[in-house]
Amino acid sequence: MSGEGNSAVGEHGVSKRAKASNRTDVGSKETSKTTSKAISKATKSAKPAKVAPAKPAPAKVAPAKPARPVKPESRLAMVRRARKINRELAEVFPYAHPELDFRNPFELVVATVLSAQTTDLRVNQTTPALFAKYPTPEDLAAAVPEEVEELIRPTGFFRAKTKSIMGLAAALRDDFGGEVPGRLEDLVKLPGVGRKTAFVVLGNAYGVPGITVDTHFMRLVRRWKWTEQEDPVKIEAEIAEIFPKSEWTMLSHRVIFHGRRICHARKPACGACPITHLCPSYGEGETDPEKAKKLLKYEMGGFPGQRLNPPPGYPGRPAPPLGASDG
Ligand code: SF4
Repeated sequence: MSGEGNSAVGEHGVSKRAKASNRTDVGSKETSKTTSKAISKATKSAKPAKVAPAKPAPAKVAPAKPARPVKPESRLAMVRRARKINRELAEVFPYAHPELDFRNPFELVVATVLSAQTTDLRVNQTTPALFAKYPTPEDLAAAVPEEVEELIRPTGFFRAKTKSIMGLAAALRDDFGGEVPGRLEDLVKLPGVGRKTAFVVLGNAYGVPGITVDTHFMRLVRRWKWTEQEDPVKIEAEIAEIFPKSEWTMLSHRVIFHGRRICHARKPACGACPITHLCPSYGEGETDPEKAKKLLKYEMGGFPGQRLNPPPGYPGRPAPPLGASDG
């Protein structure tokens, strides 16, 4: 402390002595040049009055009140919040369901494989003709590939998908007696069937609880800070720790419904979202209620849904068949 005080006094002292002896040294010349340059610049710019008043307040406030660190949410609080989100989504989407049309496990597994890189709507518009021509695994396994390709062309990647569903049909015919197996370890051995597809089939055709980690699910659980993981298998494991098994399948549908209708990837409709009070990412999307309302999709926006044959209780309109207007 005393050193600092002396130094300050010393600067004034040297300055006084320099004036008295009328001496100039290099240091004072530079100081003098810098000062006059600064003055000249300030005079030229002629705007000091505008700059000065903008800064004083934060300079005084900042050191007095350092930013208070946000208290991290405890695991227990997060689990409670996650379960509350699930309960509230159950009220918003009491009709949540798989959005692929299917009449049996075979149709569901084929439709799920076809849904890669396209919408469920496009698959639903495509599968009626496919299943009309090839209603069983035996029929599809014995098909002419080019004919299958033509039928599923609207779903994109139709050559690769034809190989997958025909290979899948042949495996069902040869290894499982023409039936879709109801066990995860068997399902994932089928061509084109990964864990996600397997859980869709288990959950919706066999009533076995499963968490479907698709692109919507991954995005939303991270927005809600239920997990920091990016790998689908790790996400699935962490979410499974938060919810009882009995909730897994319906939780998946609700989250995916919310992601498709409200909490979109690019423009989440925060201003029209029913769970803003539980969401740490509120404000990531449009918060103006009127503008947000216009971002809502399917039945929430007054449009048709994705299924041509939606289950009873669905409050929206069925999707149009292929070729008709989607509007
Ligand atoms: S508040 Fe926004 S980010 Fe959060 S769930 Fe709703 S739409 Fe998604």
